[in-house]
Amino acid sequence: MILKNFFKLHQENTTPSYLIGLSFAMQFNLLIKRFFVFAGIILLPGLVSAQKNIDTLSRAVPDIRSIIDEDFDSDEIDELIMQNWETQQIFAYREVKEIPDSIWLYLVDSVHGFILPHEGKVLNGFGPRGRRFHKGVDIKLNTGDPVKAAFDGVVRIALSGRRGFGKLIVIRHYNGFETYYAHLSKILVKPGEKVKAGDLIGLGGSTGRSRGPHLHFEIRYYDQAIDPEKLICFETGTLKQECVYMTREFLKTRTRLTAKSAPGNTEVGAQESYYTVRRGDTLSKIARKFGTTIGSLARLNNIHPSKKLRVGQIIRVI
Ligand SMILES: [Zn+2]
Repeated sequence: MILKNFFKLHQENTTPSYLIGLSFAMQFNLLIKRFFVFAGIILLPGLVSAQKNIDTLSRAVPDIRSIIDEDFDSDEIDELIMQNWETQQIFAYREVKEIPDSIWLYLVDSVHGFILPHEGKVLNGFGPRGRRFHKGVDIKLNTGDPVKAAFDGVVRIALSGRRGFGKLIVIRHYNGFETYYAHLSKILVKPGEKVKAGDLIGLGGSTGRSRGPHLHFEIRYYDQAIDPEKLICFETGTLKQECVYMTREFLKTRTRLTAKSAPGNTEVGAQESYYTVRRGDTLSKIARKFGTTIGSLARLNNIHPSKKLRVGQIIRVI
């Protein structure tokens, strides 16, 4: 089976570049072990430091290898990708209470590639924008320009005029990531349609909350937005990393996910982490929690050290 061959390749090659990632909902316990093997995902217990993660990863690999030879059929894969499948509701994971502790996801393999959704300048990046948080990147285009699927997957959402997104397509990928393509002028796909990276899915536009033609592009995991520029270099149209590590803290608290580079992926810059302010939080409390200082938090967020925080405010901590 072709998928098994990927894993064999993986065993022979220390760079985990050829695997298919696939996510799942934790309640399907019976499938978890096999699913993890298929996905090339390594589940690590709890929240640990980055260094520890690397150590744990190297210890975890033999376990994965020992169960690699199990069989998977495509029905199982379809069943897994279809969990929490919503075609009318943009965010599909609201009901999911249990999510992975921490997870490695592989973005591409030898048959599942990556293509820029649109070749254009990034006009706005991911991050706080005034009182809102911009959860994707804005790519320059002209109305009617082609918009392509970034990765292989299945179209989940193809809807008009939702939540400021305007005409929106959401594709679920085999590693559990979803990509969002917003403000389109035309949608050329339907929910349930399988797409390959590079397939034309729609035409660019300025529908919804938009001040001119651009593609608003997001990458989400369990509905949580990740900075696309952590994974993709929009200038060269290449992936910055083929393997992404995400931790429980961000998945569980429903704050922003961090995408960390795989060991050895040194080209990715300093890591950033964000935290959502809760009742009773002060800058000093948060500084202690993340092992940093009030001054450093103030600088990172461009705020005064004595500024009162708002519950729900998102602040950068690393
Ligand atoms: Zn945008």
